[in-house]
Amino acid sequence: MTGAMSEDALRREIVAVAQALDRAGFCPSKSGNVSARHGEGLLITPSGLPYARMTPEDLIHLSLDGVVLAGRGKPSSEWPFHTEIYKARPDAQAIVHTHSPRATALACARRGVPAFHYMIALCGGPDIRCADYATFGTPELAENAVRGLEGRKAVLLANHGVIALGGSLAGAHQIAAEVENLAGQYLAILAAGLEPAILDEDEMARVSAKFAGYGKVG
Ligand code: 13P
Ligand code: ZN
Repeated sequence: MTGAMSEDALRREIVAVAQALDRAGFCPSKSGNVSARHGEGLLITPSGLPYARMTPEDLIHLSLDGVVLAGRGKPSSEWPFHTEIYKARPDAQAIVHTHSPRATALACARRGVPAFHYMIALCGGPDIRCADYATFGTPELAENAVRGLEGRKAVLLANHGVIALGGSLAGAHQIAAEVENLAGQYLAILAAGLEPAILDEDEMARVSAKFAGYGKVG
């Protein structure tokens, strides 16, 4: 994706995705951040700047070691997990981090999402894990996130929020939206006092195989 796209277009798309997430209520109190691979490193949203005021020039160009290559402001405080995920995951071209309300509610109970719905397979496997807690912006959180993302495109962060990755910004955005949708459905089942019926691993593998040839964004 990013190889073919000009830097200007990529910067505009990152800001557009961040602003769309904010308008959807996924980033209360200017939480969350967005990045995409660029050159040998990445372009990432700045720390703490309200999305409504963010422009493509505000993005920071970082190396995969977290060195600022270009940009005026401070990179997102979560640059350690963005860089560690890109190092660990060649399939990740873009990363979206949100505090979307329903997924964050589950994460605050330190509960992942089991295969109660076949769409869980869109997130890469038979469940969405909840990664162990660590303070925001730390190397420990980066390590926990990378582990929770093994074989997955999304992970909940205990007492924090969500990370979604994709083969494109649109793909990472789609996964973040689907995680919030699934978390809402799962919470509704729990709130009704019902026991979800969990799809078994064979069925989830069948669904994953069908998704592989399906018109998804990825
Ligand atoms: P930044 O504004 O530094 O990106 O931090 C937001 C956030 O969600 C931290 O986890
Ligand atoms: Zn956060």
